[in-house]
Amino acid sequence: MPNDLNAPLTLSKEEMQQYGYKIVDLLVSHFDNLGNQKLNSFSDRKQMDALLHEPIPNDASPPNDVLNHVIENVLSNVDLPTHPKFYSFVPSPSNYISVMADTIASGFNVFSGGWSASPAAAELEIVTIHWLLEMFDFPIKEGGGILTSGGSMANLTALTTARRLKCGGDYSKAIIYLSDQAHSSNIKAIRILGFKKRQVRIIPTDMEFKMSLNKLKNAIAKDKLEGYQPFCIIASAGTTNTGTVDPLEEIATICKKENLWMHVDGAYGGAAILSEKGSQYLKGIEKADSLTVDPHKWFFQPYEIGCLLVKDHKWLSKTFSEKPVYLRDIEGNESEINFYDHGIQLTRRFRALKFYMSIKTFGLNAFKEAIQYSISLTENLENVFRESPKWEVISPATLAVINFRYNPISYNLSEETIDKLNQYISKQITNSSNAVLVTTILLDQVVLRMCLINPRTTMNDLQETINLCENYADEYLKDYIK
Ligand SMILES: *Cc1c(COP(=O)(O)O)cnc(C)c1O
Repeated sequence: MPNDLNAPLTLSKEEMQQYGYKIVDLLVSHFDNLGNQKLNSFSDRKQMDALLHEPIPNDASPPNDVLNHVIENVLSNVDLPTHPKFYSFVPSPSNYISVMADTIASGFNVFSGGWSASPAAAELEIVTIHWLLEMFDFPIKEGGGILTSGGSMANLTALTTARRLKCGGDYSKAIIYLSDQAHSSNIKAIRILGFKKRQVRIIPTDMEFKMSLNKLKNAIAKDKLEGYQPFCIIASAGTTNTGTVDPLEEIATICKKENLWMHVDGAYGGAAILSEKGSQYLKGIEKADSLTVDPHKWFFQPYEIGCLLVKDHKWLSKTFSEKPVYLRDIEGNESEINFYDHGIQLTRRFRALKFYMSIKTFGLNAFKEAIQYSISLTENLENVFRESPKWEVISPATLAVINFRYNPISYNLSEETIDKLNQYISKQITNSSNAVLVTTILLDQVVLRMCLINPRTTMNDLQETINLCENYADEYLKDYIK
């Protein structure tokens, strides 16, 4: 029976179709034309308030008016992390199949909390987690995991589990270790969990930005002598700054010897396991007790989907299972997983669907190819810099991240000038909306950083950006040589 059009919040079939087709056309033109759109926005709060702030609209507006308003004023004021010249942070290249899958998941409003509400949704989460367990050589039978909103939530879920399993109820003496290059979400998670500052050891990194094993061992030994309880090491598998992978094999050995939990944060870098080169970097990742990966980065999914994998799925239920009376009737048996028992959220969106549909549609080989392409592209870019008298590589191409700076050999510029010059280049490029290229700080130097995980980025795109950078640099240095 068609909708009663007098019911609130209801459109006619024709209205829904017309509205939906318009949105599909909009998305198709976005995906068909990714490189030719304005990739960033600089509007400040005042401008956005002027454009968008309004009292609550009590009365209806025509659907198309609202949609047009959003297209004109909202979509024109967001960055596009899918753009091939969006080089900064960790971009999110995304893919059309997953976008459509997300639309289905939202459209049917699938509840992905408990088995009985949506057995197939829980099953697809089990299936996709099995795929991930297999990729990382985790045990399929005992292993488990959960899809989360992103890497931050996966890290929080991991550390909650680690503490529960290693410390039980009393964690007043518990100590956790991570490097000075570890992602900020780990520190956030540690704070949320209520650890005191004195319970956190930030281990310095070596000249290659890897956690120093010597300093780690010293810290653990000292903490034990002082009566503390070391319980967890967070290793990075692809730091956000440089793509560096901590020495995973050695950290695993330390964890085993000292009975510590090994958590690996592979939010962006973990996906590199799908390439030959990447899996060499990631050797030892299979030894982790828990592992964060973030499919909305290098697995090409749209936001939000992160994932935590664990060696033993029971660890999650031991940590998160509560049995309130109002959920009594929907408890499944052992094998029918209620994902609300494996993590923090009860009501959860159907994240598995996009991952499932995109891998099934394109095939895992396409993902492998895309990841290998990005690793090679970044290495090729490194060669371009090495062969140029103008550019200096600060951290080499690693898991598709590279850091570099403009520092022409003939100029003998001071460190201060080089810093200012590279800051200037970044600002000019980004403000011109030709590319998003921001700086980071490495070894106290301002450096330009690229994270090239977008398979649609070409060497030609990079060459265009480098040429522009050189033009801006020349402009800046014109006064300098005068
Ligand atoms: C991006 C990132 C995170 C945080 O993940 P979100 O999905 O942004 O919450 C954590 N760790 C590393 C290494 C990352 O690159």
